[in-house]
Amino acid sequence: MSFAHLGLMPALLANLQQLGYQQPTAVQQQAIAPVLAGKDVLAAAQTGTGKTAAFTLPVLQLLLTQGEKVTSNCVRTLVLVPTRELAEQVHESIRHYLGELPLRTAVAYGGVSINPQMMNLRRGVDVLVATPGRLLDLYQQNAVRFHQMQVLVLDEADRMLDLGFAEELNALFSVMPRERQTLLFSATFSGPIRTLAGKLLIDPVRIDVTPKHSAAETVKQYLLVVDKKDKTELFLHLLSSRQWGQVLVFVRTRKGAESLHKKLIAAQVTADAIHGDKTQPARLRALQDFKKGRVQVLVATDVAARGLDIEQLPHVVNFDLPNVAQDYVHRIGRTGRAGLSGEAISLVSADELDELIAIEELMGINLQRFDEPDFYAEHRLPETMLGLGSIKKPKKPKKSKASAGGNIHLGDEFPVNSKPQIVAIRPAPRLAVPSRHKPKPSNAKPR
Ligand code: AMP
Repeated sequence: MSFAHLGLMPALLANLQQLGYQQPTAVQQQAIAPVLAGKDVLAAAQTGTGKTAAFTLPVLQLLLTQGEKVTSNCVRTLVLVPTRELAEQVHESIRHYLGELPLRTAVAYGGVSINPQMMNLRRGVDVLVATPGRLLDLYQQNAVRFHQMQVLVLDEADRMLDLGFAEELNALFSVMPRERQTLLFSATFSGPIRTLAGKLLIDPVRIDVTPKHSAAETVKQYLLVVDKKDKTELFLHLLSSRQWGQVLVFVRTRKGAESLHKKLIAAQVTADAIHGDKTQPARLRALQDFKKGRVQVLVATDVAARGLDIEQLPHVVNFDLPNVAQDYVHRIGRTGRAGLSGEAISLVSADELDELIAIEELMGINLQRFDEPDFYAEHRLPETMLGLGSIKKPKKPKKSKASAGGNIHLGDEFPVNSKPQIVAIRPAPRLAVPSRHKPKPSNAKPR
């Protein structure tokens, strides 16, 4: 199927040709025609599936062909996103898909001065990409009005709820016109998302392009068992021995991000860090430098995770496992994008057992384990089994052996400098998550 078959106008098709897009992705094939027909859409689509173009292309066409010219301080389409990085990312994509076509776009998020955003809104904008908190601020200061609104898009709606934006969202929905088209995109469909969809959407077209909670099939996932104190050294070893190019590394805390960043610099690795304590310009600069290939390693916390769209990123490393299991899905969504293969490697120490169990239950898989020669962990990570959590506690540290703790010793099977040729996903039936392993809600909320 080609883009032309989906009913897109020649001017947009020309822009897609310029971008080198030859065929619509699955979510684009299913979403574009219904959106053009004015329907509400409820889509389960992970990041990396091409979902941004799936809603942007038909919305741009609607704005170019229907509705009135935008007036002062009004918006015709609002795209709500959870994080500043995603706001920048989506806005940049919209600019690409729009090309030279005559629509005004703007982006608004917190952590930077509100005045330029107010100025941008003064003449009215056709598409505004915004985070909920800043949008509410703008509304309360009469800088934005919704009565011309034709389309509301909620992008990564699950993440907006995870980050605690429910109150802001409700306040915003209560002042938006009911007569509008609503598109809701979410990587996962939890109870709260279903409730939100029930409230906002009218007779939506349902699209599901990814199995629940699974990563793109092109991502190989595995974990290396390691003692906590050895993680930095192991990471440096992997970086050089496996000759990795650019790597995105996730850590749990801002402090952890800073600490790893410093150690990498000390080891003469070009690296930068992106987390909530950094100013917005510093975060954007770090992202740009990484995208342009000026730094090899970008260390990131989860708040930064959602907005990163880096083409052909072959490796994502979880230096720490995330507190919230769903963040694991978002993290590894940074590799294996748009059909390219990638590896997601987690460095897991014995104290991260609970986080690992929660992730495995959420994904419905047991992650395959390996030991790296010279980094054999003294504190063994107990074996896990879906539905049962941990199945045995280690009695005492065992010596490096292929069978130890059920792990595979890489040195026994692979040359030290080669990558393991593994497909690390072992599908298993999904069993009930024991309550103590249910993902904990995140309190983190971007300013
Ligand atoms: P998204 O899921 O919207 O974040 O998109 C993921 C990546 O896929 C982005 O880098 C897009 O530029 C790219 N992309 C989206 N649609 C297509 C397509 N039809 N053909 C090729 N690349 C695409």
